[in-house]
Amino acid sequence: MQIAMDGPAGAGKSTIAKLVSERLGMTYIDTGAMYRAVTLKAMELGVDLEQEASFSFVADTEFAFEDGRIRMDGVDVSEAVRQTAVSNNVSLVSSYLSVREALVERQQELAAAGDVVMDGRDIGYKVLPDADFKFFLTASIEERAKRRHEDNLARGIASDIEQLKQEITRRDHLDTTREHSPLRPAADAIIVDTSDMTIAEVVDMITDKIREVE
Ligand code: C5P
Repeated sequence: MQIAMDGPAGAGKSTIAKLVSERLGMTYIDTGAMYRAVTLKAMELGVDLEQEASFSFVADTEFAFEDGRIRMDGVDVSEAVRQTAVSNNVSLVSSYLSVREALVERQQELAAAGDVVMDGRDIGYKVLPDADFKFFLTASIEERAKRRHEDNLARGIASDIEQLKQEITRRDHLDTTREHSPLRPAADAIIVDTSDMTIAEVVDMITDKIREVE
């Protein structure tokens, strides 16, 4: 079974995908974390992020997911990939066709290995076009910035809500207007506006829909 969950930055995809995967006993694959991990590795290697050719290392990079955490080349990078510097560069890195092709192939291999809930931007129409269920989660920009802000404060990270709003708006713009696999819902995706819903309500709604059909 495959469940695709797409949507813009901060719509709650990863929290919800993780909870849905736990409830249904499936593996959660965070594809955004893979693009972030590649960005982190490029920054650590000190290569020129503006050059697509700098990313040939992706072919030799290993990714693994366990309990919602990501390992790259055997190292757990789940926290490191959330740094602001990574967030601010990831949309540039994810715009490169060669990076996308390499990661989409890995994502399809991971999905072939078992039941998955996979979240991202292009899962429903590109990575898993035959997924059993496709959801597209959205929320207003105010709500998404507020959620990120609260999340940062809970983690003890300094946070400015206006700055978050600008960062999210910029990333949405880059992700929806890029040439290769821009952010958009699959034609057969169920659109869920989570602005006025709690996390528990969204998880219930999604698992109910899946169980209804099952
Ligand atoms: O999901 P998250 O916000 O962590 O994703 C980080 C970035 O990775 C996105 O802003 C987007 O540029 C890129 N991404 C992508 N395709 C995916 C998942 C993420 O281009 N399937």
